[in-house]
Amino acid sequence: MPKVTEIVLASRNKHKILELSDILAPLKIKVRSVLDFPQVADVEENGFTFFENAALKAESVAKELGCAVLADDSGLMVDFLGGEPGVFSARYSGVNATDESNNKLLLEKLAGVPIEKRGAKFVCVLAFSFGGNESVFFEGNTTGRIIEELAGNKGFGYDPLFLSDDLGVTFAQASDVQKNQVSHRGRAVAKFIAWLKEE
Ligand code: IMP
Repeated sequence: MPKVTEIVLASRNKHKILELSDILAPLKIKVRSVLDFPQVADVEENGFTFFENAALKAESVAKELGCAVLADDSGLMVDFLGGEPGVFSARYSGVNATDESNNKLLLEKLAGVPIEKRGAKFVCVLAFSFGGNESVFFEGNTTGRIIEELAGNKGFGYDPLFLSDDLGVTFAQASDVQKNQVSHRGRAVAKFIAWLKEE
């Protein structure tokens, strides 16, 4: 593989782009996203696993742009719900889902469930493809609990409901730096950086 001097993130989610750019900063590599390439079409995420969806995004964008692409597929898995919402995290409450409607649905599904049964984890799978070649994967997890009321206004998605085991506050109450140190995305990127340094 040629030396990687620039990485394109196969994501249109501004929160993910910001977090990934911050965590990748130590690499001192130029980081852009598909938002900088309007010609790149939206990739349909029709896989059944984080790995399938991440690879779909990374490989199609890398093939089209002929460069190094990193894709993030991530989500929340709640023990009591058998791993739901999982790969459907973004559209849990339907096609027009918002963070608010997803959080509301999650609270409804967990109504009456005691805190000790509300264990959950965030999962992030990164797929890295150079020029459309088969992806290399990096996975990161972080554990916590789904609390009964939203707490905090930072972050995105399910952050206000996710009480982190590592931090003792929700991800929406933590600073960006604190979240990135222990998050599923931070841990997956740390593995990616270590791999890239060895390549
Ligand atoms: P994706 O874009 O298909 O990977 O969907 C990811 C979805 O999982 C997001 O829209 C959020 O609902 C949820 N999610 C993933 N990572 C995080 C996070 O760091 N905080 C909160 N929610 C997240």
